[in-house]
Amino acid sequence: MSVVVVGSANVDLVYRVQRIPAAGETVLATGSTSAPGGKGNNQVTAAARAGADASFVAAIGADAAGDRLVDSLVESGVSLHLRRTDAPTGTAIIAVDELGENAIVVDSGANGTLIDLTSTECAVIADARVLLLQLETPLETVAEAAAVARRAGTLVVLNAAPIRLLPRELLADTDVLIVNEHEAAHLAADLRDAGRVDADERALAATLGELGLAVIITLGARGAFVSVPEQGDAHVAGLSVDAVDTTGSGDTFCGALVAELERAGASSTDLATLVRCAEFATAAAALSVQRPGAVPSIPTLDEIQAFRS
Ligand code: ATP
Repeated sequence: MSVVVVGSANVDLVYRVQRIPAAGETVLATGSTSAPGGKGNNQVTAAARAGADASFVAAIGADAAGDRLVDSLVESGVSLHLRRTDAPTGTAIIAVDELGENAIVVDSGANGTLIDLTSTECAVIADARVLLLQLETPLETVAEAAAVARRAGTLVVLNAAPIRLLPRELLADTDVLIVNEHEAAHLAADLRDAGRVDADERALAATLGELGLAVIITLGARGAFVSVPEQGDAHVAGLSVDAVDTTGSGDTFCGALVAELERAGASSTDLATLVRCAEFATAAAALSVQRPGAVPSIPTLDEIQAFRS
């Protein structure tokens, strides 16, 4: 039994600039880095480093950027089920100014070709104990993967990020929804058919819980809020650390959570189990914010256990 992530993989090109260029303007960068990224890639890396037997279903280009992602994933111990496509590996060009403001351009590239799951990809999903999904790949594929998992009895965890309008069938096939506060408010507004919902996390979770699924709302430095319909809710306190870079903290949380869920042998959503998993994920994410970058900052199981002891 294992964890499978179906999702995106990108190479992030980060340029440090004194200020973000306006339209028609060219600015010189003071430095640049490139690193593996994409929510699927970050989350499966977090699950594998947190000790899960983790598989990744994704599409990357048959190019040097794709090779680089493969090396990074293999180094973290991820089992690969990758399509190598004619389309280039997805890239994100990120300009970050001295105040930490950013401007981002994403070319989804190969990620956009991840449609019509193959029989092998469906078998990987059906064999897993937990499926983790996000929304950076075509929505039809996210919904298809969730439907395959639901039929096979694989637990479906959906990180609804970046937020978009979700088909009801996808939500019906989801067991656990993970969102940040902004995403929770957005989804609650959709459900209420309202332009905006002003509510605290308990009220937001209750609204989303009307869909009949367990909800985890991440609260940045404040930790996370866990709610399961008809069982109740609980706040998991954030851990007080010196944060230097929160990039990828949400992805680390999701990957670590499913790793712990799989270890717990969870095939259903029980509040006490989800709270224990959220405590583990909160520790993993608190470690990640103390280090720069997304993938480089994701902790190993040894590091998480040492931090918690
Ligand atoms: P991002 O988009 O930056 O990856 P997010 O908006 O998806 O993050 P957050 O709710 O901001 O998600 O953070 C995810 C988790 O990371 C939180 O639940 C918490 O456990 C941890 N975390 C984030 N910021 C901090 C912080 N400053 N100190 C400690 N833990 C943090």
